[in-house]
Amino acid sequence: KELPADPSTENSRRQVTEACFSYVKPRKTSDPKLLHVSTEMLKSLGLDNTDAQSDDFLKIFTGNALLPNTSPYAMCYGGHQFGNWAGQLGDGRAINLAEVAHKGKTWTLQLKGAGETPYSRTADGLAVLRSSVREYLCSEAMYHLGVPTTRALSLALSGDQVLRDVMYDGNAAYEKGAIVCRVAASFLRFGSYEILAARQDHKTLQILVDYTIKHHFPHIGAPSKTTYLQFFKEVVDRSLTMVLHWQRVGFVHGVMNTDNMSILGLTIDYGPYGWLEGYDHGWTPNTTDRQYRRYRYGTQPDLVLWNLYKLANALYPLIQDVEPLEAILNEYDQDLKEGYLNMMKSKIGLSEINAEDAQLITELEAVLQRSETDMTIFFRKLSNLRKENAEEGLSTIFEAFYQPDEIKDEIKTTWEQWFLSYHERLQKENMNDQKRKEVMDSVNPKYVLRNYMAQLAIDQADKGNYAMIDELYQLLKKPYDEQPENEKWFVKRPEWARNKVGCSM
Ligand code: AMP
Ligand code: MG
Ligand code: MG
Repeated sequence: KELPADPSTENSRRQVTEACFSYVKPRKTSDPKLLHVSTEMLKSLGLDNTDAQSDDFLKIFTGNALLPNTSPYAMCYGGHQFGNWAGQLGDGRAINLAEVAHKGKTWTLQLKGAGETPYSRTADGLAVLRSSVREYLCSEAMYHLGVPTTRALSLALSGDQVLRDVMYDGNAAYEKGAIVCRVAASFLRFGSYEILAARQDHKTLQILVDYTIKHHFPHIGAPSKTTYLQFFKEVVDRSLTMVLHWQRVGFVHGVMNTDNMSILGLTIDYGPYGWLEGYDHGWTPNTTDRQYRRYRYGTQPDLVLWNLYKLANALYPLIQDVEPLEAILNEYDQDLKEGYLNMMKSKIGLSEINAEDAQLITELEAVLQRSETDMTIFFRKLSNLRKENAEEGLSTIFEAFYQPDEIKDEIKTTWEQWFLSYHERLQKENMNDQKRKEVMDSVNPKYVLRNYMAQLAIDQADKGNYAMIDELYQLLKKPYDEQPENEKWFVKRPEWARNKVGCSM
């Protein structure tokens, strides 16, 4: 109990001050049913499938029983949403059950969709099957892709009905309620610090920062102005690492508000996220953001920096010195430039240093966007090129085009020119074709959770068939492997799924 708690134990909505969290009780659910459990996550917690089949497990992870000697809580945080300060937000439908220590790691178990908390504002504290399947499958898929992320332990139906405005037709309808148990070392967000700074509660702010360093950045050492700066620098670096992984795999978060920025640099809040199909820097999966497209693929690294500025402002009261904070923020652009170049070089199989690589990559990005080109298929097929053969570029990746018959000759010529430069550049590499392919295939996934795939699993689940949840879960456990039996998922998005994205609520 190192962090100040809200003394009230009510779940009712309110402003919570001078506290980092509020004690709450999960809501009981009427007819809970476990749909899926992550075997990998179970193992990390020191549990196995037998534990997961117990009645206790079902009850605990659907809000119907508490682990002995635990005090569930919801966290207080604020945030900048779409560029504007939004005041107190907090865990409106997330309830932290307990922390589990296993093999030197500590995990927080959190139910999402477990009912009202002081932070629910005007919403109901619940989650629907659709959004829960999306969070469950995607967070585990991201983990297996090697992207820093919160995890998921379990997916369950609550047995209750939840009323939702379905965005695409504007009508309210009842949907199946669901609960995901999310897991992370910590669910602290940039907004956890911002809310305290905004309220000028510097005392609690310092307690929270000291707590964060002690528990999650222990190598930094005892609290002081210097260690606060070191802490900030580490958050900057981790956030950059995270977003470079997003760019690498084609993940678009869709709501990069500061309340959705983990202090540990984990991908958090799988709401309206989507995966690039056609490679397009301007694409966003967030249908409520279509006008300004603040959170589009190409702006994600810049938005991370924008969010880091907000975190710097929140930490400022403890540091009282602008210059060193700015110095850290100023390093971001250069680190991004270098990190991005190296990441893109790895995607096209270049490991030697060469002054023209940045140009080669810029040209590739430009031509990729001139004809709708499937990102995953393009990069995966690119590794099949051979050093001796300068002619086969376009035909190797041709399947990645969405409208191959409509590609103008002029674009084909640009492609051919790019492949000539690329082929020439490959000659400077020491790796042979086979080795280069291995390395490229370890950073270019073959299988990602395309938006339509999640949708198919959801449509079946809505009808009571949960087989595809497991099918996709198993597929996405080995995203970089050739899986000959699963070639049907290594295809372009079908035409019916164009412009259809999942909803977040
Ligand atoms: P998000 O846009 O998902 O990051 O959510 C922003 C805020 O709204 C957070 O404080 C959430 O906890 C809260 N929120 C989202 N959905 C619900 C819901 N169904 N019930 C209560 N609070 C919610
Ligand atoms: Mg959120
Ligand atoms: Mg959300």
